[in-house]
Amino acid sequence: TRYVYRFGGSVDDGGNQDKNLLGGKGANLDGMAGIGLPVPPGFTISTEMCTRYYDEGEQFPDSLRGEVADGIAHIEGLTGKRFGDAADPLLVSVRSGARVSMPGMMDTVLNLGLNDQTVVGLATISGDDRFAWDSYRRFIQMYADVVLELDHARFEEALEIAKEDNGYDLDTELTAKDWQKLVEEYKALVQELWGKPFPQDVHDQLWGAVGAVFGSWQSERAKVYRRLNDIPGGWGTAVNVQAMVFGNMGETSATGVAFTRDPSTGENAYYGEFLINAQGEDVVAGIRTPQYLTRAARERAGAKPLSMEEAMPEVYAQLAAVFETLEKHYRDMQDIEFTVERGKLWMLQTRSGKRTAKAALKIAIDMANEGLITREEAILRVDPAALDQLLHPTLDPDAPRDVLTKGLPASPGAASGIAVFDSDTAEKRAHAGDAVILVRVETSPEDIHGMHAAKGILTARGGMTSHAAVVARGMGRPCVSGAGTLSIKAAEGIARIGSREIREGDLITIDGTTGEVMAGEVPTIQPELAGDFGTLMVWADEVRRLKVRTNAETPLDCRTAREFGAEGIGLCRTEHMFFDAARITAVRQMILASDEAGRRAALDKLLPEQRADFTEIFEVMAGLPCTIRLLDPPLHEFLPHEEAEFAEVASAAGLDVETLRRRAAELHEFNPMLGHRGCRLGVTYPEIYEMQARAIFEAACDVAEKSGAAPVPEVMIPLVGTRRELELMKIVVDKAAQAVFAEKGRTIEYLVGTMIELPRAALRAGEIAEVGEFFSFGTNDLTQTTLGVSRDDAGRFLTTYVEKGIYARDPFVSIDVEGVGELIQIAAERGRATRPDIKLGICGEHGGDPASIAFCEATGLDYVSASPYRVPIARLAAAQAAL
Ligand code: PEP
Ligand code: MG
Repeated sequence: TRYVYRFGGSVDDGGNQDKNLLGGKGANLDGMAGIGLPVPPGFTISTEMCTRYYDEGEQFPDSLRGEVADGIAHIEGLTGKRFGDAADPLLVSVRSGARVSMPGMMDTVLNLGLNDQTVVGLATISGDDRFAWDSYRRFIQMYADVVLELDHARFEEALEIAKEDNGYDLDTELTAKDWQKLVEEYKALVQELWGKPFPQDVHDQLWGAVGAVFGSWQSERAKVYRRLNDIPGGWGTAVNVQAMVFGNMGETSATGVAFTRDPSTGENAYYGEFLINAQGEDVVAGIRTPQYLTRAARERAGAKPLSMEEAMPEVYAQLAAVFETLEKHYRDMQDIEFTVERGKLWMLQTRSGKRTAKAALKIAIDMANEGLITREEAILRVDPAALDQLLHPTLDPDAPRDVLTKGLPASPGAASGIAVFDSDTAEKRAHAGDAVILVRVETSPEDIHGMHAAKGILTARGGMTSHAAVVARGMGRPCVSGAGTLSIKAAEGIARIGSREIREGDLITIDGTTGEVMAGEVPTIQPELAGDFGTLMVWADEVRRLKVRTNAETPLDCRTAREFGAEGIGLCRTEHMFFDAARITAVRQMILASDEAGRRAALDKLLPEQRADFTEIFEVMAGLPCTIRLLDPPLHEFLPHEEAEFAEVASAAGLDVETLRRRAAELHEFNPMLGHRGCRLGVTYPEIYEMQARAIFEAACDVAEKSGAAPVPEVMIPLVGTRRELELMKIVVDKAAQAVFAEKGRTIEYLVGTMIELPRAALRAGEIAEVGEFFSFGTNDLTQTTLGVSRDDAGRFLTTYVEKGIYARDPFVSIDVEGVGELIQIAAERGRATRPDIKLGICGEHGGDPASIAFCEATGLDYVSASPYRVPIARLAAAQAAL
């Protein structure tokens, strides 16, 4: 097997641009070389090598040495320099590169190939002593950090001391001699911390770095990142070795990062930052404040230092042409790293740029309108789960704001929460239920868990492309970065802004769209749903087959869901209506009644209330189908649980406390979820379902009478396990319907169906469909009963189950396709065999989960039903599933 793929010059060995083999970075370097863009020559060691490295006890096969030597020879040939040559040394960068970008891994070592001899050669060839010694000290510092994993604070400290001793403020004030002296100190530090001298053999340096890249694949940080992002451990990383080019060779050199479109808003305008006379890490590290790429951006920000467009117009024009070429070639917004070495432009990296949900949406719609991609592709480009971000509230512009400071608008959206100064505390407080804003000087990959737990992130340092900004955008967390007036003393749990202070635990609000940081909580408003969002929804609706309904039981939720495009109600849980303060007493009287007559008397009080509920809902839904589920939970849920409440409840219901206590004790169940609930209530107390059915049909007749648009009730019986149960309940419902129709002198079309939420029901679906006119899969209960895992108690152990790979994802979030899924398939098949036109839907929480929706599409269900805010997500996911 071949493991090394060369690129640059007229060579692109990996011509197929396979990301799985070459990693994202390697595939795109190869791709850029292939379309003739200026890429410094190099080679990629494939991900297959990584896998083999781990299979064989972290060793390289002998054959790799020869392949790497050929790779180095390729670079030497094109650059005319030799690796380790004391006169004119070739220097290389070594970078990791998995299939997808992984901030948790070792990233980059620059200037590899420098040692005590080659540094002299570099100084002579470049004619710049200072540059050469600065490069050498950077190399030692980076190598010590990412390859040898020595404490980088010690190196920073040595640099700070060197500056202090000389009375300098800036790195740029250090002279060649100063850097040379620092190199000696760094080498001594390596000896001290590592116990061995800094490697002088350039080949040892290279193999050390290659080993470190492969080693970083199994680092704790990388593992955490993979877990959070569902990245399989078996993918492995590639290693990219590439000739160095220098952005720090004086005023005609520069380095920068850019996006071909604005990754925050999606606006079709180049976006980026660059630094003259600097090396790559200077831009992202936030040491110097980067300059704008375009004149327009600089002017908009009111910044002084010239933009690249103004300072280097010719190279800028070349760069702009490259942007266009790249977007046409990759047909997506690109995130680019480039370097200008003495006036010559080099492309170091390109990849599809991470973007906010808002930008993803705008870019997808714009690119489809520009003809760069098709509408179908545009639909597939937007992650349904990310739509959530757009549907979330922003700050109310009219609400008073106590603005403490302003930073960069690094990731949009607004969030309030308590200020917390470290990631472990952030995670702890978030688990305890607090909304948390993580406040840091800057973030690093070690903060991923804290950022994930936080509602928002605020940093004192770093630009729009800083770690905090990039990661927050990817996670969909609002972020304000580089709030420079913020002085954070994490150890003391305090941050100061002028005379104001934020203490740990203080409530603050950040607005990632404007960069504002405010004291206290600022109220929010709902987002705008027209524009690009509306367009995408229209396109999605054109291609999806699955209908999307909503789970709702209040007129407000129904209205919200309709605005989001719900095509009916898939689940109206009527018990929610019983908890209403005005009715709970009548409900309790019904439960506590000693005979049917007593129950009926209480139900008579509930009837008009319930009828009014359905009337409102039918009006809002205006002729759309409405699935209404009859009472489901065990009756004791309606009784008080605290001794203190008993007296009050008893007197309200007109009973003595003793009777209430006795009845509550009678109703106690050891296993309520498998107890006296669902249709078992209807079987034992048919008058309850009779009242509910009557309320439904009376409301339907009234609305039909008033509005002319006849409601379409679908009466749903919960927790059915046998045909006979459904048959008995259908008789109750049909009788109520006939009675109401006779009284009202009109008939309404309606269906009677059942939830499939017990394995027995799924297996006996053939005969149940003889009675039921529709099935709705109640996948919450079906998951609980199929897995034998209590949905209310699973939290305690399910995370461990997911961590250990027992379930790939939480089965209450994303359907267990193998188990629960098979039961659904069986039920759908057997139900249809009996009744070919049977309506099939899903109304468990899974109805709003994109992966589960894909399963529903594959199984040929008719609709999914989701909570109102998930309706747009479901529409998009349904469209993607259909493509
Ligand atoms: C279900 O079990 O999936 C369902 C929708 O019903 P509930 O969540 O009310 O039990
Ligand atoms: Mg259920």
